[in-house]
Amino acid sequence: MAEFDLIERIRSRALAREDVVLGIGDDAALLQGPADRQLVVAMDTLNEGVHFPVGTAAADIGWKALAVNLSDLAAMGAEPAWCTLSLSLPDARAAWVDAFIDGFQQLAVQHRVALVGGDTTRGPRSVCVTVHGFVEPHRALRRDAAQAGDALWVSGTLGEAAAALALCSEGASAHPDPGEGARWRARLDRPTPRIELGRALRGIASACIDVSDGLLADLGHVCRASGVRARVDVDALPGRDALLARFDREAARRLQAAGGDDYELCFTAPAAMAGCVATCAADAGVPVTCIGQMTAGSGVEARDGAGRPWQPPRTGYQHFGA
Ligand code: ADP
Ligand code: MG
Repeated sequence: MAEFDLIERIRSRALAREDVVLGIGDDAALLQGPADRQLVVAMDTLNEGVHFPVGTAAADIGWKALAVNLSDLAAMGAEPAWCTLSLSLPDARAAWVDAFIDGFQQLAVQHRVALVGGDTTRGPRSVCVTVHGFVEPHRALRRDAAQAGDALWVSGTLGEAAAALALCSEGASAHPDPGEGARWRARLDRPTPRIELGRALRGIASACIDVSDGLLADLGHVCRASGVRARVDVDALPGRDALLARFDREAARRLQAAGGDDYELCFTAPAAMAGCVATCAADAGVPVTCIGQMTAGSGVEARDGAGRPWQPPRTGYQHFGA
């Protein structure tokens, strides 16, 4: 397939929105955002062998490329609107591109995201997406406003994506329960961006981040930006029991506290807001768990269920080492 056939295949699938004045096809897109909103922009790249295992299904790569970007908008409390897509592919097989767009569009339709442009080149398999969304002025959830005394929360469960990756990179035998193993793999391949929860937490959460590199590493960014310290109970992290069916206690702690690829929201809120947080979670249909609290000081302090200090060998993923 030639480059322009490939682009046409992508264009024909893009969602229409009334605020897209001119979408794919010209030198650039023309977009009309609401005057009373701030524009929120995020970009994330997925490289084969780094962000997804070689051999990952094209539809899963398509889903994940958009999901990790929407997760950044969720962490800001933003409402998604538009995206662009840069595709680097070793070859232009129509079946691969069609399946990729299937997965991408499945999620785009859920959140009404219009694909408005991009770039297509030949090279190692790599996908880069930029998303644009809106938030009311002064209402974005940022990393820099956590306060000592705030409760620390996380959505959903942690560790299953890292567990799936561990099983597939060790070449280890699958999960003893194939259904549960498939559920872990789906958490790795098809993360759910917590858009509704992020929107609901505007005005309630004091700070928010999405967990992509690993809980302790990402929480460290909140602590640094806010000038506070976090205390986390690593044996209180949601999803622990399921991991203990396949991993020992120490391995489960590492997967949950430092594994990454969770795309859950980690956020802080004044302790008195616990009831409002529970209401947000119920409205968004996502469970949330209190996993610790913010204190005066700096850094992240992890403790096990017995109150002993606990430190993983590494707190999260870094592309160029520690
Ligand atoms: P130019 O040479 O002017 O940069 P291109 O030939 O790269 O334009 O792209 C033509 C049109 O197709 C542009 O509107 C561009 O945004 C869009 N486009 C190219 N690749 C993609 C892609 N992978 N996904 C979505 N839109 C794309
Ligand atoms: Mg041009």
